[in-house]
Amino acid sequence: MSNIIYPTTNFTATEQLTIDRGEGVYVYDSNGKQYLEGLAGLWCTSLGYGNRELIDTASEQMGKLAYSHMFGGKTHRVGQELAERLREMVPVENAKVFFGNSGSDANDTHIKLLHYYFAAIGKPQKRKIIARERSYHGVTVAAASLTGLPVNQTNFDLPVEALGILRTDAPHYYRGALPGESEAQFVERITNNLEQLILREAPETIAAFIAEPITGASGVIVPPAGYYEKVQAILNKYDILFWADEVITGFGRTGHDFGSTTVGIESPALMTLAKQLSSAYMPISASVIRGDLYEAMIEPSNKLGVFGHGYTYSGHPVACAVALKVMEIYQRDNIFERAAKMGDYLQRRLAEFRDHPLVGEVRGRGLIGAVELVADKATGKAFVDGSVGAFAQRACERHGLILRAVAGSSLAFCPPLIITEAQIDEMIEKFGKALADTQDFVSR
Ligand code: PLP
Repeated sequence: MSNIIYPTTNFTATEQLTIDRGEGVYVYDSNGKQYLEGLAGLWCTSLGYGNRELIDTASEQMGKLAYSHMFGGKTHRVGQELAERLREMVPVENAKVFFGNSGSDANDTHIKLLHYYFAAIGKPQKRKIIARERSYHGVTVAAASLTGLPVNQTNFDLPVEALGILRTDAPHYYRGALPGESEAQFVERITNNLEQLILREAPETIAAFIAEPITGASGVIVPPAGYYEKVQAILNKYDILFWADEVITGFGRTGHDFGSTTVGIESPALMTLAKQLSSAYMPISASVIRGDLYEAMIEPSNKLGVFGHGYTYSGHPVACAVALKVMEIYQRDNIFERAAKMGDYLQRRLAEFRDHPLVGEVRGRGLIGAVELVADKATGKAFVDGSVGAFAQRACERHGLILRAVAGSSLAFCPPLIITEAQIDEMIEKFGKALADTQDFVSR
């Protein structure tokens, strides 16, 4: 019996797959069995495993300056350079960057930045945040309060009431539409709900609206056309900031540089980055804000005093050096353009499963997708629990493919951005076999 407390684990579960090493898009277990990593770890190893340039960069930076920090009048070159590089890349005007260690802590940082900013401009009551159902923003106490999944809140007394998190609809047409409702009518109804929520709560008390441009961990939800256009118009009308959580969708995942670009979100005021920021070779995140928010915060006349926040490892030089190298590789090797091409191919291949009797919906954009398994194809009736999804995930593993069952019975695909067409074919073939096994299991 292991003495480890495994995260996000049913404490009564016993099975563990021990991953030992990785190379390219493949990982190997402790018995030497090869698996195609169809989820890039946890949606993060964009450049795959064993990248020599990243390994050498980390090692050289450790040799040169293993640790320093960016507090109280100190800074370091790689941190500065990475911030500068991100500022050039992100669609946030005059971006300013605060470094952290994970997507969750970067979202916590954003909440504090929002509180501080609105206090600085004399609107301290403007601090509620609108988050959506079926969203995932992390698991720290504050980030889990933003998250719209009961599993991350039940047992923990979340959301924290004082944070004033407001909840609005997920743009999930397949699961959220009323009978007979068209996509356009669905968008009209849920954005109208959003506006009513804002009016009920009073716009002057609401700071921001947080959204994953394409929702990842809770089922890969691609909003219907027109959704973000309407949301942005409403937020602009009531002076509420758009906060894009790009922890999964950032850096070429959805067919463009950022998910915001893919879905037409214009210049978000806040953006959260992590995961592919370093291709997961080192833990690092970035809370990015619009320059004018920062300017207001540093205005001495606001008399707020120090922004009392920061982690020991904020801007860790080894993580910064690795992330900087990742940005260089993304640009030098045209990784986003390649990923966009491979993304189109993946979506075409995934679409082949649409007619399968177990498949309710195939969703995705670029190199992220999901195949949702259902109990009844005609009505879309979901399975009563996650056991079919869990079986399918294990069946994939038996065939040498790692995927993740999310939101019950959706199998999520999110391979490294360096995947080739032949490897996508291999992934699809293995998934097809696992799906056949799953059908046998369901009809038993
Ligand atoms: N935000 C989004 C959209 C995520 O998908 C995740 C993690 O999957 C997080 C935040 C939290 O990031 P982390 O697990 O690094 O804390």
